[in-house]
Amino acid sequence: MMQMTKHTYDAVVIGAGFSGLYQLHTLRDQLNLKVKVIETGHDLGGTWYWNRYPGARCDSESHSYCYMFSEEIYKEWSWSERYPGPDEIRAYLNFVATKLDLRKDIQFDTTVTSAHFIEADNVWEVATNTGDTYRTTFLITAIGCISTANVPDIPGLSTFKGKWYHTGNWPHETVSFKGKRVGQIGTGSTGIQAAPVIADTAEHLYVFQRTPNYSVPARNAPLTDEFKEYVRNNYGEIKEVVQSTPNGHPFRISSTKVFDQTEEERQATYEAAWDKGGLQFRASFQDLIVDKKANDTAANFLKNKIKSIVVDKETAESLSNIDHPYAGKRPPIDTNYFETFNRDNVTLVDLKKENIEAITATGIQTNAGHIELDMIVFATGFDAITGKFLQMDIRGRQGLPLSDAWKEGPRTYLGLQTPGFPNLFTITGPGSPSVLCNMPVPIEQHVEWITDCIEYMRKHNIDTCEANQEAADEWVDHVNAAANATLLPTVPHSWYLGANVVGKPRVFMPYAGGMTRYRAICEDVVANNYNGFVFASDGIEENTNNRTNDKFAAAEKIQSPGI
Ligand code: NAP
Repeated sequence: MMQMTKHTYDAVVIGAGFSGLYQLHTLRDQLNLKVKVIETGHDLGGTWYWNRYPGARCDSESHSYCYMFSEEIYKEWSWSERYPGPDEIRAYLNFVATKLDLRKDIQFDTTVTSAHFIEADNVWEVATNTGDTYRTTFLITAIGCISTANVPDIPGLSTFKGKWYHTGNWPHETVSFKGKRVGQIGTGSTGIQAAPVIADTAEHLYVFQRTPNYSVPARNAPLTDEFKEYVRNNYGEIKEVVQSTPNGHPFRISSTKVFDQTEEERQATYEAAWDKGGLQFRASFQDLIVDKKANDTAANFLKNKIKSIVVDKETAESLSNIDHPYAGKRPPIDTNYFETFNRDNVTLVDLKKENIEAITATGIQTNAGHIELDMIVFATGFDAITGKFLQMDIRGRQGLPLSDAWKEGPRTYLGLQTPGFPNLFTITGPGSPSVLCNMPVPIEQHVEWITDCIEYMRKHNIDTCEANQEAADEWVDHVNAAANATLLPTVPHSWYLGANVVGKPRVFMPYAGGMTRYRAICEDVVANNYNGFVFASDGIEENTNNRTNDKFAAAEKIQSPGI
């Protein structure tokens, strides 16, 4: 029989990635709380613990994909490449964990199965798969946004005799593609990174493409000593940039609009951005994400690039036959993705021309024929943002399941709290800028906001903090308005909308109004007596100031989205 052990904590944090580690540090070392982090993985790293697929690499530039809260930590670490890979990110997080002595408060190999709010005591009772129970005043989810692998329900997978993998759950030991006929399903950011690396050693790679995608070269390279020196000497300036740009990246979004330039000038702008590589391409003009006509100019430029790279005309057509605006879905960056289709051992299977009917014992059956395979790689994405929450049995007041509260899609206030779930804080939760930003930037802001809120509560002997329903409703309206001010919701098959998961409500989940605007709103909420949050002590409400400010009500003000 499983042993039940009860522990009591001030705060339990779920997840030991970027957010969980920093949250542990602030609550334990700044507020002196008794904190436990519970982590499914055998080690820390969060998304980078699981995502070890071939070609995996972050698309934020390394000198900004890190903590900024400590100048000392920032300067002590030196990144080796323009974009960090999973090994280097894990090494970095380990360096931080050692420096701050975090490991001793992390329970690895343990998954939270349920978290119930016990109203009589104002505590959360958290149960794990190891049979432990934790009673805690504060429960903080640090579970990331893309941590629930989505394997499509294609008939016959269980009959497949070869090996199959999902990129988001990649084995820790090396997977060899040598001499293997590999089928890769999916051409999102992950598939676009994986295909060139798999093709390097596979006997043959078949890329099953449902929706073609834009991609810009990453132009990854080792960092020069000169650049490393620049990073070490310019902590303040880099921090100022990432914290004042809407998307948290270390570059500014151009203030020039697409049609402010002549056709010739525009082509030169795009060529320069293409040569520079990376997500900066998206920042070439101010209005790329809000004006379809403006966006078309970038889309056409990128489609022409594909046609100029890919030699086989039919393959080039299939790859460039893109039906959505550039960056309407998360824009991938790549290393030799389109070039890969010029290899003799790579075939594109265009799922707009043929359908996958089933997986067989020896391959994939489409309505055009059978493709013999030794291995299948699912680069099919995630049940993003809400998936992990709903895998846990989270219940708030009166036993309300989170799955009920979010039945029509997630409803939060600022992405930080859900009405009916007191003292549950959700770092980069639905309705926060999260995935539309360079993630460490919103993570630091959320962690610090939550820490300040808890500190305030303790100072004022407040038992519970809970988002007000009206505030959450207004916030959801604002999140929708912010999305609708952009081209993002026009892409029907986007995971931002939950459209990639069968049965998932179609709701635009991240906040597209920009990190700078979001940060200002959060600060304003605090300055106005935590407007929209209800504080209570001994069951009596302390602050009655529960109207939200009007700062985010005027959606039409949103002209520069947060990406
Ligand atoms: P994704 O963007 O959701 O892409 C999944 C791919 O699988 C899409 O091409 C999708 O086609 C396809 N697919 C899904 N189900 C399918 C089915 N039943 N049959 C055929 N094709 C199917 O997932 P992802 O590429 O893993 O990326 C997810 C997110 O992770 C990214 O957007 C990004 O935020 C993050 N990421 C970041 C990096 C980085 O930092 N460099 C790298 C990788 C991922 P449809 O488009 O038609 O649905």
